Amino acid sequence: MKKISLLIPCYNEEMSLPLLYPELLKLMEGMPAYEWELMFVNDGSIDGTIDALRQLRQQDPRVNYVDLSRNFGKEVAMLAGFDYVTGDCMIIIDADLQDPPSLIPEMVKWWEQGYEDVYARRRTRGKESWLRKFLSMRFYKMLQNSSRFDVLQNVGDFRLLDRCCINALKKMRESERYTKGMYSWIGFKKKEVTFDRGDRVAGKSAWNYRQLFSLAIDGITSFTSLPLRISTVIGFIISLMAFIYMMVVFVKALVWGDPVRGYPSLVMLILFLGGIQLLSLGVIGEYIGRIYNETKNRPDYIVSKFNDERVL
Ligand code: UDP
Ligand code: MG
Repeated sequence: MKKISLLIPCYNEEMSLPLLYPELLKLMEGMPAYEWELMFVNDGSIDGTIDALRQLRQQDPRVNYVDLSRNFGKEVAMLAGFDYVTGDCMIIIDADLQDPPSLIPEMVKWWEQGYEDVYARRRTRGKESWLRKFLSMRFYKMLQNSSRFDVLQNVGDFRLLDRCCINALKKMRESERYTKGMYSWIGFKKKEVTFDRGDRVAGKSAWNYRQLFSLAIDGITSFTSLPLRISTVIGFIISLMAFIYMMVVFVKALVWGDPVRGYPSLVMLILFLGGIQLLSLGVIGEYIGRIYNETKNRPDYIVSKFNDERVL
């Protein structure tokens, strides 16, 4: 019998879990030909999520949970899940029922036909502000134009991954993670299914704009070095212009002499060049900061408990 693991990262989901579990139960009962494993990752929740998970495990031995020692963020929580799931394939699904479990039978069907990465594309995005939708659209356009890998818009983490994909993802241990880019980086045979994304059933989205911005920067820095290239090009263009201007000033001084003038242009130049330099430094800094973090070689996450047992 083939084993399917469901990976569910949870951060403050005590309200959603009682609604999610019956849905998953319905799903598992509808597909008795498979062995099921539920792998919850408690990402340092500060509400009763861990108690809810413990209770679920008592009534259903298929429920497993990894309890992280603090909040590491969804990307890292998913990596912990990759390490712990034991299924022949894995389906990543949000705890808030925004990803409908009813889509899973279709995903499994494609998996049985030999597809190794069956991802769900949202036709609609549920309740979100127009600003978030707009920024998200711009971000994906930019990422697509600047890197060799297709990071698909309106495709989230809701997908089925074959064991070969899980093993590939487990080898990617960087700590500033952008998993959406990794799915396309690892390759394998992909298949798209579509669905309408609903709203959260309970609780509220843990992402704020600052975190989304930081995720976006992670996405850019881990999949393209285009910003560095842009700095180089801007630096080159400005140097060229500066050289031409230098010749003009030099010739003018030779031919007409050089009375002291040009304070406004001087100030403008200093401020403009200073700005460009700081900007480029910032770009370089973003990359160096990440190099620094990776060279520390810390574990990506710390597990405090796995299924009621302390991990030492
Ligand atoms: N999540 C997590 N750690 C975090 C933030 C979120 O494990 O630091 C989980 C959360 O419990 C949910 C999923 O990631 O299962 C998606 O989060 P959310 O619904 O807040 O994001 P959105 O749907 O708004 O993109
Ligand atoms: Mg959500």
